[in-house]
Amino acid sequence: MSLRIVVCVKYVPDATGDRHFAEDLTVDRDDVDGLLSELDEYAVEQALQIKDEADDAEITVLTVGPEDAKDALRKALSMGADKAVHVEDDDLHGTDALGTSLVLAKALEHVGYDLVVSGMASTDGGMGVVPAMLAERLGVPQVTLLSEVKVEDGKVTGRRDGDAASEQLEAALPAVVSVTDQSGEARYPSFKGIMAAKKKPVESLDLSDLGIEADEVGLENAWTKVDEATERPARTAGTIVKDEGEGGKQLAEFLAGQKFI
Ligand SMILES: Cc1cc2nc3c(=O)[nH]c(=O)nc-3n(C[C@H](O)[C@H](O)[C@H](O)COP(=O)(O)OP(=O)(O)OC[C@H]3O[C@@H](n4cnc5c(N)ncnc54)[C@H](O)[C@@H]3O)c2cc1C
Repeated sequence: MSLRIVVCVKYVPDATGDRHFAEDLTVDRDDVDGLLSELDEYAVEQALQIKDEADDAEITVLTVGPEDAKDALRKALSMGADKAVHVEDDDLHGTDALGTSLVLAKALEHVGYDLVVSGMASTDGGMGVVPAMLAERLGVPQVTLLSEVKVEDGKVTGRRDGDAASEQLEAALPAVVSVTDQSGEARYPSFKGIMAAKKKPVESLDLSDLGIEADEVGLENAWTKVDEATERPARTAGTIVKDEGEGGKQLAEFLAGQKFI
């Protein structure tokens, strides 16, 4: 039986770009460049390593996002994923984490899965809650924040590193896992991979394909929303120490003043 791995990847505004809120206080995703959330590249990488180890496995990458989110899927396909699913619908605008987890869960049931792999958090909302919400909605175990993950004998096993100790964890499949940015460098797409990705299938779905009503998602139905957003004050130049022999002393006084030492 082929192991069905589904990786949830998010399309996020480029952190080096001019990220700002739109009038309705959702993140302006229209005229801002976006990309595959960096933390989800680790999820794609771990899925590819599990596939390399498995006798027979297939990787589907799944995203809920606007039209441009296809770029995130293309990147994951060029890294080596086999196929993609894109859930896109105007009614999804401003959807909160609860709504996103609902759409992802329905899409996963549509696609079919044995192992769901996600990043530890997105690089824009950054809540780190969707994997747990997904596991709850799907009624399967979750093993989160893994720095190492393996699949063998119908089980997923992994190591979670904490400050004080490392835990060895396991769960029977089907299951949801999330991996950290310590799980190993994500591979760069090869030229061959980029060319092959252009021919790989991308299935497009909307809410009606998943049997989801518009009043279950979107900004109007969000349980949480941004009430107010204030510009972060511009960064100041900071204190410049010109070393005319007393530089070290001035630096130590500055650090002591900031209670760094
Ligand atoms: C600045 C900002 C603040 C926000 N604040 C809130 C808030 O307080 N409460 C709230 O409910 N929502 C909030 N949202 C909306 C929330 O970001 C989205 O609903 C999002 O899709 C899920 O939350 P997250 O990005 O924090 O995901 P996380 O829980 O951080 O994501 C963890 C993992 O889930 C998967 N994943 C997440 N989103 C998607 C997706 N769209 N498609 C595929 N896989 C995905 C990825 O594998 C990701 O690594 C906020 C968004 C932004 C940009």
